[in-house]
Amino acid sequence: MGAFLEEVNRRIDGVPIQRCYHCRKCSAGCPVAFAMEYNPNKVIKMIQMGKRAEVLGSSTIWLCASCETCVTRCPNDVDIARMMDVLREMVIEEGLGAREKKILKFHEAFLAGIRSGGRINEPMMIARYKMTTGDLFSDLKMGLDMFMKGKLSLISPKTKDMTSVRKIFDRTKK
Ligand code: SF4
Ligand code: SF4
Repeated sequence: MGAFLEEVNRRIDGVPIQRCYHCRKCSAGCPVAFAMEYNPNKVIKMIQMGKRAEVLGSSTIWLCASCETCVTRCPNDVDIARMMDVLREMVIEEGLGAREKKILKFHEAFLAGIRSGGRINEPMMIARYKMTTGDLFSDLKMGLDMFMKGKLSLISPKTKDMTSVRKIFDRTKK
């Protein structure tokens, strides 16, 4: 087994991805496959072929929305959503730089919101995301429309059990 494949499997700590027989049911059901550089099952093939730089440098791993449609469709229980998580973690840990930088900023804004209140306050999260990307006005009209229709609430309750939230962050921090 190649070193890259072995490393990914070890981190997934579940069904080994070589159980995939490339039926492509995952890719056929993936809601964002149309925008991906490589289809989800192609990523598996590339890992098997040891194409480390191409996989970790691809936009695909950042476009995955972790919806788990692929996991439910897979006849072999291959957890592609987990695999994508693992690949993103590897990019961050190795300081390789995310191909989709704004998506990484979005993840960071989301986690910062959870860390501070246990749940997401959408306006605060959007403000944080906008400040870090410098992309201040691109979705302004949509944001205002959503606000006028009551889809964005300025106030959201904090989680009561913040101790548990902090413990999760403490356990998972590197
Ligand atoms: S659905 Fe499962 S077996 Fe089929 S291509 Fe996708 S990961 Fe492989
Ligand atoms: S978890 Fe990712 S790869 Fe799987 S179907 Fe959803 S977006 Fe596609």
